[in-house]
Amino acid sequence: MTAQIIDGQAIADRIRADIALDVTKFQEKFGYAPGLGVVLAGDNPASQTYVRMKQNACHRAGMVSVTRTMTAQSTQAEVESAVAELNADPHIHGILVQLPLPKHINEEIILRAVSLDKDVDGFHPINIGMLGMKGREPLFTPATPTGCMVMLQEAGVDLNGANAVVVGRSNIVGLPMALMLIKANATVTVAHSRTKDLPALLKTADVVVAAIGIPEYIKGEWLKSGAVVIDVGTNQVQDPTSAKGYKFVGDVHFDSAAQVVKAISKVPGGVGPMTITMLMQNTMKAAWRIAGG
Ligand code: NDP
Repeated sequence: MTAQIIDGQAIADRIRADIALDVTKFQEKFGYAPGLGVVLAGDNPASQTYVRMKQNACHRAGMVSVTRTMTAQSTQAEVESAVAELNADPHIHGILVQLPLPKHINEEIILRAVSLDKDVDGFHPINIGMLGMKGREPLFTPATPTGCMVMLQEAGVDLNGANAVVVGRSNIVGLPMALMLIKANATVTVAHSRTKDLPALLKTADVVVAAIGIPEYIKGEWLKSGAVVIDVGTNQVQDPTSAKGYKFVGDVHFDSAAQVVKAISKVPGGVGPMTITMLMQNTMKAAWRIAGG
């Protein structure tokens, strides 16, 4: 079997073109562009890169993006006050606190401080709680799992009653992913580092979402024939053949998996661009809600 590629970049480009049109409509109606406010504390190079990518994508779509950049020594009060300023700014519609925060900062307090109306990352405990509850809908859902859901939808996957295995249980990917799949009527199992026999579990999965952080960990022979795989993993590995000396690979061994599964996303060019796009979409939604359009 040669797998269909679920092309996150192409889906993202299409949605971003629609967002750019929506930005123009918003600007014409209100006289200003939708705005994303970012809090970046510390000197984690990956975080700096992610923030730059998100900002560039916002600017390309015509949105405003401002970043409150703070040092790794910033205090809890300083980070809280950056969030409070963005909460109060009428031209900022979405707030993103780039994680991880420096270790001495209490992440839960900061995420709780983000105005619910501007919680475009969907990490406020109330939004996560709503996501987990039957019959409730959060205002915003986290960008990465939302992007995965759109990719599954675009690939024509019927989640109703499907066996889905989410590998990873982090607050930002694995956990909300599992909650979203449950809402979509899949039968969901969450695997993690203590899971006893991951290959046996994966053999039962019609849908696999991998969010582990170990390069090419999941092998093709662990997967069920005809499964659909979304690879969230973004792992930098050495690559002497590239000019930079490194490349990015997913958590799934792509070449062996593509022989077995029906459809699979690639790394790079899969979930990454979708994550940024879902953040932009949430910011657009927040802007219309707040502006009253
Ligand atoms: P975390 O490190 O927070 O979580 C990793 C999860 O994987 C944990 O739940 C851990 O289990 C589980 N795990 C670790 N080892 C194994 C194993 N051997 N078998 C099964 N499960 C295991 O990572 P994140 O969720 O933040 O990110 C996961 C990956 O996704 C990373 O590569 C990251 O770079 C990428 N990512 C990509 C994004 C994108 O937009 N493309 C966005 C966010 C993340 P336990 O809980 O027991 O420790």
